[in-house]
This record gives sequence, C-alpha cells and structure tokens, in this order.
Amino acid sequence: MPGSFTTVTLGCKVNQYESEALAHRLVAEGWRRTDGPPVDLCLINTCTVTGRAAMQSRQAVRRAARQGARRILVTGCYAQVEPEALAAIDGVDLVVGHSEKHRIPSLVNDLEHRTGGGPAPLVVSPRSAAWSFDAICDAVVGGRTRPLLKIQDGCDAFCAYCIVPYARGRSRSMPGDDVLARVAALGAAGYHEVVLTGIHLGRYGRDLAPPATLAGLLRRIDTAGAIPRFRVSSIEPQEFDAALIGALTGSPRCCRHFHVPLQSGDDEILRRMGRPYTGSEVSDLVLTLTRAVPGAGVGLDVLVGFPGETEAAFERTYQLAAGLPLAYLHVFPFSPRSGTPAARMPDPVPDAVITRRCARLRGLGQRKRLDFCRQFVGQQFTFPVEGRRDPRSGLLKIVTDNYLPVLFEGPDALRETTVTVRIEAVGRGASLTGHLD
Ligand code: SF4
Repeated sequence: MPGSFTTVTLGCKVNQYESEALAHRLVAEGWRRTDGPPVDLCLINTCTVTGRAAMQSRQAVRRAARQGARRILVTGCYAQVEPEALAAIDGVDLVVGHSEKHRIPSLVNDLEHRTGGGPAPLVVSPRSAAWSFDAICDAVVGGRTRPLLKIQDGCDAFCAYCIVPYARGRSRSMPGDDVLARVAALGAAGYHEVVLTGIHLGRYGRDLAPPATLAGLLRRIDTAGAIPRFRVSSIEPQEFDAALIGALTGSPRCCRHFHVPLQSGDDEILRRMGRPYTGSEVSDLVLTLTRAVPGAGVGLDVLVGFPGETEAAFERTYQLAAGLPLAYLHVFPFSPRSGTPAARMPDPVPDAVITRRCARLRGLGQRKRLDFCRQFVGQQFTFPVEGRRDPRSGLLKIVTDNYLPVLFEGPDALRETTVTVRIEAVGRGASLTGHLD
C-alpha cells in the first residue's frame, strides 16, 4: 500500500538523476514524497567512489533507521559492489543492484510482507557486459530549475583508484533520437536549461549503432533549439577533441561552464592512476576553453595523496592549478577503495600529509573563486529565479550560465520567472549578491 517516502542520495549527478527518476515513478504509483522523517519508505541511493563515500552510505542507512523509517530500501553503486555489507545493517529491508533499479516501484510493494529478522534480501545481479542503457523512467524528470538528464552510464576506463566501472558496468548511451525527444519535452514543459550527465560523458555514443559522438549530439541539440540552454557535466580531459571543443564553444545555447577532472598535475602520478593525458595537456585545454569563451567558468577536480605522490609531485599539481584562470577547484583526499589496484599500491601518503595538502589546495581554490567572481561585479545577468529561496539568507537566487549563484531581494511572485539581476558585491565565501535591474 503506497504511503510516504523520502530519498537520500549520495554521490554524483547520475545518482541524483536516478533518485529523481525513481521518485517520479513512485509518485506515479501513488506514493507521497516528503522531505523528512517519519516516513513509510526511505530510499537510499548509495555511492562507493571512495572508502569514505561507502562509509557515508552506511551512515545514511543507520540514520534512516534511527529516524524511524518504517522500510529502508538501499540501491546505488555501494549496493551493487558490497550488497552484503548493507544487508547486514539493522533496519535495512531490501538491497537492489543497478540492473534491477527499474524494478524498485514494484519491489517496494513486496516489502509489506517482509517480517524482518536476519540480513535483508538482495536483488543484485553480477555486473554484466549485457547491461543496456536504462533511463529508469520513461517520462522526463523535472522538478528543479535545471533538470538532469542521464544520457550515458558506465565506464570502460578502470582508473587505478576508481571502483565505478565495477559498479556501473561498461559504457552505454541513450540513443540520440531519445535524447532529442527528452530535451524537447523538457523545453515544452517550460524548462530553460537541461544538464546532460553521465559517468564518462565523453564516451557518449561509441556503443550505439551506428556510433555517435557527444560533439554530434550537442550539435543536434543546438540545431533543434528546443530548449534555451544546455549544460554538460564533467568531461574527461582526453575526450576534448577539436569537434567537441567546437561544439561546446561554438553554441550560444551551451552554458559557459566546463568541469574537468584533472586529478593530478604530475605526469608520473597520472600514469600511475591510469589517466591517459598529461598535466600540460589539461593546462592547454583550460586556456583554450577560457580564450574561446569569455567569462567561462572552468572547474577542476583534484585527487590529493594518491600513493607515491611526493612533495614535488603535489607541488606540480599546485603550480599547475595556480597558473590557470579557474572558477573553482574541487579537492578530494585519496582514500583507498578496496577492490581497486590503487588500494594495493606501495608508498601510501600519510593522512596528516594528505590533510595538509588538501587544505593548501582548498585555500588556492578559494582565492581562484574570489578572483573569478570579482570580474562580474557590475554585470547584468538574465536567468530564471530558483523555485526555493536560499535557505541561509532567505533571499531569491539565480544561477548564471557560468555557474555563479547570485542572491537578491525580491517577492515570492518572482520565483520561477525570468529576471535581470546586476551583481553588486562578492561576499565572504565568494557568495554573490545583486539587485533586480
Ligand atoms: S573515468 Fe576513471 S575516474 Fe571516471 S568513472 Fe571511469 S574509472 Fe572512474
């Protein structure tokens, strides 16, 4: 019998999309979505990209049990890779793997008959080359100002530190016509923007028959003109060929926001990670993007403390980032993920050293962020107002195409309408404030 439910999502944008897709289907089956406890069903979409993410996933499950969720269903990457660890946690009723996620709306009905006691049952198939692309939900999933659209899943890269290919399987893609149809549906529903997302987005289309490319897909979306803007989530450095750079920088519909997982600026560490590019290639890429698109917000991911990262190797990463016009840095401490080659590598970096290096890089990231934001003071931006007020300040918010959140005073009636805001100031923590123009 459907009741109330909540979703808890850890990890990447693909997980966020999948939680929204599952929530959409549960609502269609009569379930009522709520923000918090108590709930009849808590759906936890886990992550296992690092040892820390797996720990946070277990903590989320225990929290839901403490908060009295009547039923707890766990899915996602950690559920796929270590289902038994989750099934053994008190309060868990069902663990569902990636290839069975689409069955969750029917599986939750069976939970009513579970009497408890002992580990939760598993509905988890071993990872298989036969897994096909699964959007999980046929309808377009909206409900936010910038809806996500998963167009690619899985990864064939097997970087030394990453468990994701073991969890999500080989790279596979949504056919181009389906992408176009979903983007058109989002545009027809009044959305101004779509965020195209995937696990290894730059591999989009290589599995399709005939093969397609992300560059080709973006050009089709641009030409169709069904939605005012599109944004792409993270793209691996080696995937930026001339065609993709052209498609990203040549379309007025493409948001000026590019996220590149650098991970290290040291070529030897990159080689040990199994990342097929050099630090200077990423430098060149960032400069190419920022020169081609004035005001572009380019952000980098950096993984700090990979085994063998010497002080000199870290310094190369630091100096590379310091020399680039970046909008932000996302800094992640390396934590060994069991089941990956990196977990067995020699020369681990002590935790205290990782913490110190992360702090230094985050300090650099904050300075880069301030410098980036300051150049837009006095400029006007016309964008839709977010549906919710900023929880801390109570102010209305727009998010620009180059990913600047700008807070401003205004009445509730402006929510989800398009307004023009002039940026006035950059405050602490690089928060931008402005006024209606
Ligand atoms: S590209 Fe590397 S880091 Fe990214 S999901 Fe694939 S294996 Fe993991």
